[in-house]
Amino acid sequence: MSDGDFSVREFQRMIEATYGEKDRSRGLGGTFMWFTEEVGELARALKKGTPDRKNLEEEFSDVFAWLCTLASIADIDMTEACRRYMKGCPRCAAAPCRCGEKTRFAERPEA
Ligand SMILES: [Zn+2]
Repeated sequence: MSDGDFSVREFQRMIEATYGEKDRSRGLGGTFMWFTEEVGELARALKKGTPDRKNLEEEFSDVFAWLCTLASIADIDMTEACRRYMKGCPRCAAAPCRCGEKTRFAERPEA
């Protein structure tokens, strides 16, 4: 693998190839626990506010890797799943989003 850019699909496939068997045998519940642990580590790294870019990068990539492995276990293709954000806000279809903070997390209208 080169050091160049790669797609979300390539990333998810590499995580699947690297950890898929182990993560599937652990199951969705156990793997979700690991994911939340990594989210906690990211929260701590952000809260520290130290300019440790390397550590922050590692924590962000850990969270994304665990999210991708969860998606794989749940048979979700992250590229397809994320496509809904590629035309702007899935709710108001604008970029930047024109939804207010109150409506941003409100229940989505029927697709
Ligand atoms: Zn919006």
